[in-house]
Amino acid sequence: MRTTFPETGQDHDALIDEIRRRKAGDADWRGGRVPLFVFKGSDDVDAIGRAAFNELFTENALGAKRAFLSLGAMEREVVDMGLDLFRAPDGAQGFMTTGGTESIIMAVQAARNFARAATGNASHRGNLVLADTAHPAFDKAARLMDLDVRRVPAAADYRADPIAMAAAADRDTILIVGSAPCFPFGIVDPIGELSELALSRGLWLHVDACVGGYLAPFVRDTGRLVPAFEMHLPGVRSLSADLHKFGYTPKPASTVFYRGAAEAVHHGFDADVWPNGRFATSTIVGTRPGGAVAGAWAVLKHLGRAGYRQLAAELMTSIDRYRTGVAAIPGLHVIGEPHLSIVAVGASGFDVFRVAELMAARGWVPGVTQRPKGLHRMMSLLHVPSMDGYLADLAATTAEVRDGDTGAAHLKAEY
Ligand SMILES: *Cc1c(COP(=O)(O)O)cnc(C)c1O
Repeated sequence: MRTTFPETGQDHDALIDEIRRRKAGDADWRGGRVPLFVFKGSDDVDAIGRAAFNELFTENALGAKRAFLSLGAMEREVVDMGLDLFRAPDGAQGFMTTGGTESIIMAVQAARNFARAATGNASHRGNLVLADTAHPAFDKAARLMDLDVRRVPAAADYRADPIAMAAAADRDTILIVGSAPCFPFGIVDPIGELSELALSRGLWLHVDACVGGYLAPFVRDTGRLVPAFEMHLPGVRSLSADLHKFGYTPKPASTVFYRGAAEAVHHGFDADVWPNGRFATSTIVGTRPGGAVAGAWAVLKHLGRAGYRQLAAELMTSIDRYRTGVAAIPGLHVIGEPHLSIVAVGASGFDVFRVAELMAARGWVPGVTQRPKGLHRMMSLLHVPSMDGYLADLAATTAEVRDGDTGAAHLKAEY
């Protein structure tokens, strides 16, 4: 039945109570039961993000140039901090967006327009070359812009294969992609080699650091191996990194960066077509929450490199515990060699999706990969307190399946 538009309004407390009742039925993300979607640094970080968001709750970042100059300034500072973190050369530029998907769509559009300008062909169609581990946001961008996508199998170690990608690229290739890391397995692609390929063939390399961007440099600082992926690599022409993931800032917030003005000039929208005159936005969307800009600014400034490093160290210690725990369960193994806090776990001799179903019955929202089949978790500090409980349930459910559970897995892999 369709909900009717209410004739009379309800009062504040009743509505908030109702919302609380409704959300009480949601998955318990605070208890670490949700394997993705939500991120947490610390209570402190959560508090500063909320407070800053609420300070500019009503303001609209669309008006950052003409009315809410504070937002314009904070946005520039967020972008500058990102350019610094990602070792961008002088002259590089960046923009805030509402998420990884929008950052990627904007970068693909910039690359497409760059190619059109370079070829002098305003209807040049073009293709994208990416490893099959790259995020579907590139396919979304391609569908919007009627571009072709060439997904190339990753190598046996689940990293993008530069040789296969070189073979798939041709004169109509407008963009190649490397992920840092890829979403399915948490493994950083060989961005250095892709950078060489991009330079030697005159291709635009986009680094998708949406999930890892604001985590990887700090994990490296703790002495762990994280391959170079930043913009000091000369073939990297654009890079996307989400603040609202491991930047621990309020949603919606992401960043996209370009090597120089030659690329950045193709970012954004600018038209003088209607009675109000020129309409220019640096994103697809018009209205954007001012709170997300203020929240990002405040969280970056509150944590600083030292704060992020500390959180990264704590997180990676717990990831070690997770990996050790998984390795101790007969029949399970970590898929590939993940660099950060995304870990996929495969099984030998039985169907790991059946384990996922039994885990779901114990209240753990399943995340999976389907090629190869795995249990997928993107862990933040939210998952630390429940780590031992998760591993105990994982050991028990795995034993059940391994030792003769006869049920068939019905689970369908979906994001
Ligand atoms: C999350 C993610 C995206 C998309 O970001 P949204 O903020 O969900 O739009 C793109 N690429 C990778 C690798 C991601 O992890």
